[in-house]
Amino acid sequence: MASHTSGKEIPSIVAGMFYGEIMEDEVFPFPQFSDSQKEMAKAMTEAIVKFSEEHIDAAKFDREGKLPPEVLKGLAELGLCGLGVDEEYGGLGLDSTLYARVFAEIAAIDPSIGVTLGAHQSIGYKALVNEGNEEQKKKWLPKLASGEVMASFCLTEPGSGSDAYSIKTKAVKNNDGTYTITGQKLWITNAGLAGFYSVFAKTDHEDAQGNKVEKISCFIVEKDMPGVSFGEKEDKMGIRASETRAVYFDKVVVPATNMIGEPGKGFKIAMNVLNTGRLSIGSGAVSGMKMILKLATNQAKQRKQFGDYIINYGLIQEKLAAIAANCYATECMVYMTTGKITQGMHFEHESAICKVYGSEKLWDSIDKATQIAAGNAYMKEYPYERIMRDSRIHLIFEGTNEILRIFTALSGLKGPSDDLKELGKIADVSKALQDPIKSLGVLTNFAKKRITKQLATKTLTKVHPSLERHSQKFSHSLKDFSIAVENTIMKYGKNIIGNELAQLRIANMVIELYAQVCVLSRTTSILNSTTISESEKEYVTLLTESICRDSHQSFTKNHARLTSSYDKLTPKISKHIAERDGYGFDIIDY
Ligand SMILES: Cc1cc2nc3c(=O)[nH]c(=O)nc-3n(C[C@H](O)[C@H](O)[C@H](O)COP(=O)(O)OP(=O)(O)OC[C@H]3O[C@@H](n4cnc5c(N)ncnc54)[C@H](O)[C@@H]3O)c2cc1C
Repeated sequence: MASHTSGKEIPSIVAGMFYGEIMEDEVFPFPQFSDSQKEMAKAMTEAIVKFSEEHIDAAKFDREGKLPPEVLKGLAELGLCGLGVDEEYGGLGLDSTLYARVFAEIAAIDPSIGVTLGAHQSIGYKALVNEGNEEQKKKWLPKLASGEVMASFCLTEPGSGSDAYSIKTKAVKNNDGTYTITGQKLWITNAGLAGFYSVFAKTDHEDAQGNKVEKISCFIVEKDMPGVSFGEKEDKMGIRASETRAVYFDKVVVPATNMIGEPGKGFKIAMNVLNTGRLSIGSGAVSGMKMILKLATNQAKQRKQFGDYIINYGLIQEKLAAIAANCYATECMVYMTTGKITQGMHFEHESAICKVYGSEKLWDSIDKATQIAAGNAYMKEYPYERIMRDSRIHLIFEGTNEILRIFTALSGLKGPSDDLKELGKIADVSKALQDPIKSLGVLTNFAKKRITKQLATKTLTKVHPSLERHSQKFSHSLKDFSIAVENTIMKYGKNIIGNELAQLRIANMVIELYAQVCVLSRTTSILNSTTISESEKEYVTLLTESICRDSHQSFTKNHARLTSSYDKLTPKISKHIAERDGYGFDIIDY
């Protein structure tokens, strides 16, 4: 995905929320597609749809478990292997917004193709785009952008999934400057198909005291290098037409010129790559939800039971409305994020949130659509079961949703906790109060700020008047959130790292706040427009009502659980489960 184009840098919207701040001028108006972006998006999506009607049969590819090479070739010819690569290297040079919109189109038509193309460019050669030197870019990018060579991102290993820093693959530096790589990577998308592998391996370094330490570095490994081999193709639940294999490195010698970025900086490189990859999952989820809503609506309009079409029954309408709300909210979040990236926003919080929110709303939407189609959905003749199998992966890869919630909470808490470190010097507030004289100055300043925060609610002044109620709720929730952030920091101190349920609550609260503000911003832009019909305006107002109410309820529930004793039940119940190796009861016994 192309980086930002404006030259200026703006701070993360979500990071600001941890301080109770909302940069209204950054969030309003909602980022719009320019005329040229619209034209490009339209032309690209029309070309993709036309190509797919003629050449893509997702059900067949799923049954056969492979993508015909000529389909990938045809998609490459449309430019889909180099969407974000600068034109000077043969790519289309799309910015983040266009990339998201175009990529989403193909991802929804066939998720196996979406994953193949995503693994290629969103992560496979992204390290090269971000950190490669000119020589490396000139050598590889034209071939990668044209699809002549496909790419893979190799981080996961048998013993190292979420804990990516614990990889064991080792790159030993030789006297001639080359590196010898030995190790194994697991579940690598495009393995075997790809010619270019971004491989993360441990290298030896010295710390400031001269002690030997291992860090991670990133290398380009080519398919044909001696010592590279592949496992059998994995037999997967979904995205079955995509290639997933283990990759083995048996003393693979790579030249020093194949290192991407600086030695020892590979972990940061990998995390930055995944930040962008996650946005593609968010935008793919939007298209997936649009597609599933279309299917479910047609089904509900055609199926008659009890003398009427099921679309006329409240419980079916409730599901259709929820899918539309899921889709609208995710779309607002993804395109707020890409729009701000184009303007220079730091986006690791937002991309993690878009991935978590989008993948979960997609899963929920598919579940609802499946219920609407009921028995039909259960039959392989219909696409629901395939779509369900295909979409489940999005909650797992490119950072599981658990890890991304932890990341969202801990990285967000870091800023305010650094600011509160003066309080940290006095350990915790209760201890400080035992020695009030010593602590008085610090506490007085803190109390002043705290009182100001409690009195002041940051109101949004740019929200459309018809959404005032939701805007006010957002503002109150934002204040409550920032106070909850401070309370959490003071309550747990550095022990917050071991308190995952508190992290979960914090993450869920900020996810809801981001959803609300993105929706309020986009709906405001739509309502302020003079060219959009009243019917469209009514539709988005209703969706906004529904999203903001549900989101506020979810925020309130998570807020309450942060402070109540409810979450204390969880580890206790889990302990019983562990002791019984499962449920442990039988109705016969009790
Ligand atoms: C189809 C497919 C394609 C893939 N493609 C690639 C690829 O191209 N390149 C690549 O490098 N990798 C790839 N992966 C690997 C993928 O990124 C990992 O599966 C993912 O990171 C999770 O690792 P894991 O499966 O080992 O789960 P684990 O890390 O073992 O986690 C198991 C469970 O524990 C949870 N968990 C772990 N640690 C914590 C914690 N501290 N607190 C709370 N919960 C925790 C996780 O969220 C998860 O629910 C792919 C995987 C699949 C299935």
